[in-house]
Amino acid sequence: MKPLIGIGFWRSLLEPELPDPACFIDADWSQSERQRVLHYLQQGQPLNYWMGYSWCRFRCGISNPEMGAADYTDGTYCWPEGLAHYVSCHQVRLPNTFTQHVLSQLSFPAAAAKVSDFSPVDMQWCQQQTGWHPSFLSFPAETDEEAEKTIRRFEQGKCLEPSMLTPAACEARTHLIKQWRAKTS
Ligand SMILES: [Zn+2]
Repeated sequence: MKPLIGIGFWRSLLEPELPDPACFIDADWSQSERQRVLHYLQQGQPLNYWMGYSWCRFRCGISNPEMGAADYTDGTYCWPEGLAHYVSCHQVRLPNTFTQHVLSQLSFPAAAAKVSDFSPVDMQWCQQQTGWHPSFLSFPAETDEEAEKTIRRFEQGKCLEPSMLTPAACEARTHLIKQWRAKTS
């Protein structure tokens, strides 16, 4: 089974290796392309539902249920239900490879319906995307209190199973905590 390519999964203290949506802000993206990509994302075939709702990394006030709990697919890519919100409300422009893929489709791929919820999702490509403004930052947790609580748990070694801590994840998390400290001090 060919893995789906993850896109639009954003970083947090719990997933520090994913990209920051703030880096992808592009107010000058053509409106027609933005609308076509948005329409495409909204047609995604639901793949699976997570236990909890997502939250907006910009803390704009949208409710978590509106951000959704599902992952969507078109048979090639896999994205979270809430990705459309970033494109429509936060001027996020997705990587060119994905945009070209969307623009090259005559209609939403029928193959999406054949994907099973056991399909593996490859996050490697997603993790490598740096966006257009690599120094822009969003929030690494839903609230400041949540960020502090999570960081304390990391510092006490309580948060993740040691087996889940790849060296790259550790490095990304340390970097993210440093950025957060600099922003809030
Ligand atoms: Zn938002």
